[in-house]
Amino acid sequence: MPGSSSKPRGRRRAVIIGGSMSGLFSAAFLRQIGWDVDVYERSGVELVGRGAGITTHPELLEALEAAGTGTQNLGIEISKRIALDRQGRITEERPLRQIMTSWDKLQRMLRATIDPANYHLGWNFERVDQDERGVRVTFSGDRIEHADILIGGDGIRSGVRAQVAPELQPIYAGYYIWRGAPNEADLDERTLREIFPYFVLYWPKRQQVITYPISGFGEDLEPGRRRYNFIWYRVADAAQMQDMCIDERGVRHEYSVPPPLIRKELIAQMHSDAQDIMPDVLLDCVMKIPQPFITPIYDFTAPSIVFGRVAMTGDAATSTRPHMGFGVAKAGGDAMSLARALRDHEDIDTALKAYNAERQPYGNNVVMHGRKLGTHLGVNLKTEEDRRMHELLQSDGAALDWIAVPNFLDDYK
Ligand SMILES: Cc1cc2nc3c(=O)[nH]c(=O)nc-3n(C[C@H](O)[C@H](O)[C@H](O)COP(=O)(O)OP(=O)(O)OC[C@H]3O[C@@H](n4cnc5c(N)ncnc54)[C@H](O)[C@@H]3O)c2cc1C
Repeated sequence: MPGSSSKPRGRRRAVIIGGSMSGLFSAAFLRQIGWDVDVYERSGVELVGRGAGITTHPELLEALEAAGTGTQNLGIEISKRIALDRQGRITEERPLRQIMTSWDKLQRMLRATIDPANYHLGWNFERVDQDERGVRVTFSGDRIEHADILIGGDGIRSGVRAQVAPELQPIYAGYYIWRGAPNEADLDERTLREIFPYFVLYWPKRQQVITYPISGFGEDLEPGRRRYNFIWYRVADAAQMQDMCIDERGVRHEYSVPPPLIRKELIAQMHSDAQDIMPDVLLDCVMKIPQPFITPIYDFTAPSIVFGRVAMTGDAATSTRPHMGFGVAKAGGDAMSLARALRDHEDIDTALKAYNAERQPYGNNVVMHGRKLGTHLGVNLKTEEDRRMHELLQSDGAALDWIAVPNFLDDYK
């Protein structure tokens, strides 16, 4: 984010809730325009080990450069995408250079942009009160902070949003994913040769398997020590999903079960289903995932992402299904847009309106696009357009052309 405001003014302050992608991007960009920022994260320990692979897009690279992290050694560059059939033969392929990184890597890079004195672990947001001077933010333990604005970067289940717009609730998409990341060193020689270097799609009826290489533990990019990101989309209605949210001890979880507590019988069933439908190279990956876990897919969009002096960013503002691999790019873009508006408008309320005008429609488009790509799974096809997209995406070629491709938002300009 270039430059600071041309007009001199007293220092302004933002309290940021959530110490993940949105929170860190917001802190980086607001600091650049001369604001004081403090990030408050609920977790008492550093956010590491979330372990998921992250597809990158030009918007993410731009946000990282602007935030000052650089994009050197970001991840593994792949040169092409391939689609497989049941026998593991390539049915279609497309040249496409794309960098595959990991959530841990991005978190570490962004974390380094903020002074540790302004990043506070173990602070749980409880409520916000607003008046004409700004916000008064209460945390667990009755800790109170004052600021000009509050940024809600606290994810899809945002507590900030629950207070300012309780009617906005994530909606279950009707499908979930099994995911995990087997170690490169554990995979068969054939798997390494035929699929490991590529972004791979395998689309049996009403299911999607997507794989690509990512760094190993400690963001190791050395051949032999990397991992292979594995994502398997499967359909389950709400009742089935609720059942899957009962853990090994019989305890029901609201959204998903911590990986070590997933019922063994669900993992055994998943392995058995994989044996029935997967080509050998993908089966090899499934069977070598050390700790598979389940993520139910939700999304939501919002008519407004600003509520007085509260600005929502990233997944807390609008959250998309992960078919485009665009969530972190959107978090970075939201934060950049917010800082730009606050830089360009002396009046904070005018700035927040400008931010809302730019990013609410943008977030909405991202969510709608995610739903479009989700039609492949054949859940809840309501309109003629849904059914047309569902048909189109049955072809491997279309899947390669649509899923997680760069610049997909150009169609919405
Ligand atoms: C299967 C899957 C695959 C994905 N693949 C990609 C991909 O390839 N590329 C991509 O760009 N994105 C991808 N995403 C999306 C991406 O992970 C999210 O968009 C991104 O993490 C959002 O960042 P965030 O900071 O907005 O929210 P989060 O990462 O959810 O962070 C919110 C933070 O707020 C904290 N918090 C919550 N409540 C409170 C509270 N009360 N007080 C204080 N702190 C609180 C939480 O502890 C958390 O650290 C994927 C998502 C999924 C589910």
